[in-house]
Amino acid sequence: MVTDAGNPSDRAPRRVTLLGATGSIGSSTCDLIAQAPERFRVEAVTANTDVDGLAVIARRFGAAAAVIADPSLYGPLAERLSGTDTHVAAGPEALAEAAARPADLVVGGIVGSAGLEPSLAALRQGTALALANKECLVCAGKLFMDEAERSGADILPIDSEHNAIFQVLDQGGRSAVERLILTASGGPFRTASLTSMQAATPEDALAHPTWDMGAKVSIDSATMMNKGLEIIEAYYLFGMPAPAIEVVVHPQSIVHSLVAYADGSVLAQLGCPDMRIPIAHALAYPERMAADTPRLDLAALGQLTFEEPDTTRFPSLRLARSALDAQGGATAVLNAANEIAVGAFLQRRLGFMAIPGLVEDTLSAVNWSQAPDLESVIALDAEARRKAAELASAPPYSG
Ligand code: NDP
Repeated sequence: MVTDAGNPSDRAPRRVTLLGATGSIGSSTCDLIAQAPERFRVEAVTANTDVDGLAVIARRFGAAAAVIADPSLYGPLAERLSGTDTHVAAGPEALAEAAARPADLVVGGIVGSAGLEPSLAALRQGTALALANKECLVCAGKLFMDEAERSGADILPIDSEHNAIFQVLDQGGRSAVERLILTASGGPFRTASLTSMQAATPEDALAHPTWDMGAKVSIDSATMMNKGLEIIEAYYLFGMPAPAIEVVVHPQSIVHSLVAYADGSVLAQLGCPDMRIPIAHALAYPERMAADTPRLDLAALGQLTFEEPDTTRFPSLRLARSALDAQGGATAVLNAANEIAVGAFLQRRLGFMAIPGLVEDTLSAVNWSQAPDLESVIALDAEARRKAAELASAPPYSG
């Protein structure tokens, strides 16, 4: 549980563990921690393969532990951290152990379903989880929320849309919430023709107009699968029925999301598109911290615009909604197939518009009908990855 214990200067620094410390969310979090060193102490930091980046972060903050997911990189990490007091470990189990170390807050900044087990390990300990890693909820939303309820751990959303909703959701008046409205930038292809989208390269798709993010979430934004994953994320985080979760395209990315109430009021959270703003909210919650982030100048912006999403050019939105409606393990399969498809696109083995096609074909080829426990989510994730990779290497996707 995150506790509010009076004046921040009167108490011990908040112990923070960073899962995915070397990524985009990780480096925004490091920037904020460096801005308020008296408020935070870094407990553990983790990465997948970036030993150099991880060692720099561990040394910079004097982390108690540094864990690299790739077991073959234990030696190089230990070498880079020799002479420090940082405990070094490697491998997926060590990652979950790092997440379970005593801490006040774990930041979930791993990309993809690889973040599921470490995030669950934090929740099991009852440690508050500042969650960016939406794929965890897409794979195993019910299991995830049940675990948080059992242990009493808070989940503080960092994803800007969900953080916005969290900030304006009237917890006492939940029954009066009519709709959640997620905003979407529309990505780099918001106004592009279908023909040009078919020819899009990774460079075109990575060029996000408003947000600076890691590669996978940038491609998800370009296909709008990101918004589909976020509908599923909102469904689990806020317990709203799927039809009451709407999407509106808002190219300026200033209004981060909205909550509509039964009396006709609509509350929104606004800010410049900078992930340090929602991360600062989660790091300091339930207080606020002063942060050196860009300030909003509405008069300089002049206008904010909104439009309907186009599900013909962005079929991923429709796919995500039908996976959520189907229940069972469909969203785990959707997520795994999407991770494979995005990886193949980034490696130029798959066309941009083939990403949703591969996801849809994987959903048809894998049996996801049972409501899965954790073991079967992990097995389903592996099976869907295998199937998606197999489909991607054969016609019509390849050769
Ligand atoms: P990045 O790709 O920039 O960083 C991912 C982090 O996860 C890195 O530290 C990486 O380590 C680590 N990682 C990757 N694969 C594994 C693995 N198999 N096991 C353990 N660790 C792994 O991603 P982002 O920071 O952009 O995104 C992280 C999450 O936050 C995603 O779920 C994304 O959807 C979400 N999010 C991100 C936003 C953003 O602005 N970036 C905005 C909203 C949500 P290494 O560096 O060694 O590869």
